[in-house]
Amino acid sequence: MQLALIFQLSIALLAGELAGTSGLGAWTGALVAAAGPVIVLLFGRALAARAERSMDARESGGPERFFAFQSKGPWLAALCMAVAASSDLPRVVPGAFGAAAASIYLFACGIASILAGHWNAWRIEARIREATIIRTLDEARPLCPMPSRLAYVLAQARAGLLPVLAPLVIPVALSEVGRMAASSYFPGDEAIGQFAGAIAGIGIVFLSVPLLIPPILGLVRLAPGPLRDDLESLARSAGIGVREIWVWPTDGLVANAAVIGVLPRLRCVMLSDALLECMPREQVLAVMAHELGHVMRRHLLWLLPVILACWALAGFIAAPLAEWAYHALAPEVGEGSRESLVGALVLARDASVLVLGLAAFGYASRRFERQADADAVRLLSERGGSGETTAAAVAAMSGALASVAFLNRVPPERPSWRHGSIAWRRRYLAQLVGVPLGPLAVDRFVALLGWSSVVVVLAAILWNWSAAA
Ligand SMILES: [Zn+2]
Repeated sequence: MQLALIFQLSIALLAGELAGTSGLGAWTGALVAAAGPVIVLLFGRALAARAERSMDARESGGPERFFAFQSKGPWLAALCMAVAASSDLPRVVPGAFGAAAASIYLFACGIASILAGHWNAWRIEARIREATIIRTLDEARPLCPMPSRLAYVLAQARAGLLPVLAPLVIPVALSEVGRMAASSYFPGDEAIGQFAGAIAGIGIVFLSVPLLIPPILGLVRLAPGPLRDDLESLARSAGIGVREIWVWPTDGLVANAAVIGVLPRLRCVMLSDALLECMPREQVLAVMAHELGHVMRRHLLWLLPVILACWALAGFIAAPLAEWAYHALAPEVGEGSRESLVGALVLARDASVLVLGLAAFGYASRRFERQADADAVRLLSERGGSGETTAAAVAAMSGALASVAFLNRVPPERPSWRHGSIAWRRRYLAQLVGVPLGPLAVDRFVALLGWSSVVVVLAAILWNWSAAA
């Protein structure tokens, strides 16, 4: 869903540039955009009703079909948004204000599609919880009451939307502020103002996340006790300072964990309630060890050069292609259509930079996950006093992934842009039994990826600098 959300935001932000490219009228555009969430709501509702009937009849597959559609809903809405953005809708009100209003309307339709999906999912979640009450009691796990439908939708929105949108919206908004400030005080330096604003925004996000997330998500301190002692001793044996371990209350709906904060003094680990309550202790420790792996390898910091290198490389590829296409096509079109050809090619170039950049970023991020999985196995094996990776450590990490998939109702084979599918990660882990604790192929590959990204970014800066001089 994160990737679909980023696409939705990108389409909304590009509304000004896309306007008028399809020749559709403004009303048609507005209706198509609104059709996205309506289809998600109605079709999802029909699938949810079918899933309920199949659960009544004790047939399998109903909830799976519902959740499969649920994950595609935001993509459907993004498609509707793209059609609407290419209509005359962004031009109804002339000027920058009209484009901004269209962007907000389009993005609201995208968000509505995600909320509609959660609205439908509430019924199925409640039914699954009812169906598993007996097992929960048998396993002596705490029984969370199902929240009301509205509380469920809001909790899912808080968990799924805020962590993705806040880090994107703050730099984008500040880059706009920087551009506007530059245009009034230093005319001609708008690009520098925009860049400075974006960098300031990224800095603010990095520094403020550990302070903002706890109140936003309503985190509570993990109570003192054997679990906390175990988790703290694991962090100590990894040599990682952790200021706080938070429990993320989700009414038992989300099984997830994350490290927040780059600076050691602000660094916290958060583990959701479902993860703590439903997973055996060794799996909770494996999840913690995986998160500590991300910290040991400074994955959060390495993401920055990797992202920048992905955009730079995508630009290197797409810009000459667009130029080539212009020279090939320009003689074919008349003088009058040249301007719209340039517009279409600029749009195609920017869109392919976005897609290539996101694809490359996803690839790198999946290798970071694999490395953190391997680190978790090594850390757990080392604590057990072994000189090589143990079957127990692999079983704990692999089992933790299987539990996360089960608790979050994610099919193991479903691809994930940033993490890779659960099955892909478990297949890799299965090869790790009995391996010496030293560096692995994945470590060398990630190091190569990181340092070559730094080289690409430096080359791109030099290139731009020499081109400007
Ligand atoms: Zn991870």
